[in-house]
Amino acid sequence: YQVHIAPLDEAAEDAGRFLLTFQDITEARRMDRMRSDFVANASHELRTPLASMTGFIETLQGPAKEDTAARERFLAIMLEQAERMGRLVEDLMSLSRLELRAHVAPSDRIALVGLIEHVCDALRPQAEELGVALAFTPASEEAVVLGDRDELIQVFQNLVENACKYGQSGERVEVSIAGPADGSDTPEGMVDVAVRDYGPGIPAEHVPRLTERFYRVDVETSRAKKGTGLGLAIVKHILTRHRARLIVRSRLGEGSVFLVRFKRA
Ligand code: ADP
Repeated sequence: YQVHIAPLDEAAEDAGRFLLTFQDITEARRMDRMRSDFVANASHELRTPLASMTGFIETLQGPAKEDTAARERFLAIMLEQAERMGRLVEDLMSLSRLELRAHVAPSDRIALVGLIEHVCDALRPQAEELGVALAFTPASEEAVVLGDRDELIQVFQNLVENACKYGQSGERVEVSIAGPADGSDTPEGMVDVAVRDYGPGIPAEHVPRLTERFYRVDVETSRAKKGTGLGLAIVKHILTRHRARLIVRSRLGEGSVFLVRFKRA
């Protein structure tokens, strides 16, 4: 609490009396802490590849100057690190753009079936490279929502990519759209898009934290799979702006479902 004391001496009857106010600043403190944690995390994430690149450049200028094999290898690693920094900067910029627009609800009429089909078609080659068969089942009736096309593409790209990367061992990813008419538990007036994988699943204690910035269940796996730890934070921001919900259901050893629930337009 922040405490203020002010004398109340404007009127004669208030002479010698004071006004004491207590202001609850828990939320403001929490926001400050979150902001400074975020800056620290982002700096750390950027510094790691930068330090590695600096190290390799110094080695190439010195001890490995004449070593062609080492040069090839080091250049390949440096390119990888530069690409990693590029992905981080892209994601950080996405987040800051989204924060600026957080209070404006998007208003284009979007037909979900076409949009999701487009995302699946675009990602199918990438899925096949991982040995994952990507299937899409549309709803029995067209579902239209109010949204921003590019942002919704980004949401489903992220979810499908995650399902393919982290659920690779399940060899199958199913994307489906369903409304109450499809016999699902979707409430009246809503439509659900589900991205299901048959991978290792996510331990329950991690599920509520997945959309935090830089939160990963396993940092090494995320790095190896070219993750930045920002994907689901971006998804969450976009969905909040769309007044849509992200529901995660996961069972260890069976896989995960990332379900997005929209209000129909
Ligand atoms: P990243 O860039 O690391 O993929 P995300 O924000 O997209 O970051 O996801 C956060 C973390 O959630 C991932 O690092 C991963 O540990 C976990 N995760 C996301 N999707 C899945 C999934 N389908 N199956 C298992 N774990 C997942």
